[in-house]
Amino acid sequence: MKSTRRSFLKGVSAGIVCLTLGQLGFDLGDAHAYAGKLKIEGAKEVISVCPFCSVCCQIIAYVRDGRLVATEGDPDFPVNEGALCAKGAALFTMYTSRHRLEKPLYRAPFSNHWVEKDWEWTLNEIARRVKDARDQDMILKNAKGQTVNRLESIFAMGTSHASNEECAVIHQAMRGLGVVHMDHQARV
Ligand code: SF4
Repeated sequence: MKSTRRSFLKGVSAGIVCLTLGQLGFDLGDAHAYAGKLKIEGAKEVISVCPFCSVCCQIIAYVRDGRLVATEGDPDFPVNEGALCAKGAALFTMYTSRHRLEKPLYRAPFSNHWVEKDWEWTLNEIARRVKDARDQDMILKNAKGQTVNRLESIFAMGTSHASNEECAVIHQAMRGLGVVHMDHQARV
């Protein structure tokens, strides 16, 4: 059987516990009962990758009965060796947080409250506004007559909760529209 850093650590720690507690005559019944209640007990380990930046730290996702029950850094992966930054450590809450929005919210100009909208209305509204802005503000040539094809009235702001692939698609779409002003919250 192939020995990994993780299985080696598990084996060593189990051995130490057996020697120091078992051999000293402690009753391990309570410890075994506690271990049986751990949230990852009986869960399948699925290797995945943190989606939040290009470091691509490896993650162990614990899945039980088709549901994600926990995530942690993979100690066998040489890039992160089990460690995760604050964003990667909070990955599980992206899935479970009660603050997670599941439907688009819209706040009209000068309004002080949000209204729930469906995706069809939201995507149509975004497309219409992007087209209106581009039709109105696209700059084809600069003062010297050089072709620039740039759109300065739209600003694209990324989020650390977008994956690398989503960011790449957004970046290409914005450049295709001529958008030159972009930044990303993950840099903060
Ligand atoms: S966001 Fe943090 S945990 Fe995720 S890949 Fe980047 S450094 Fe690793």
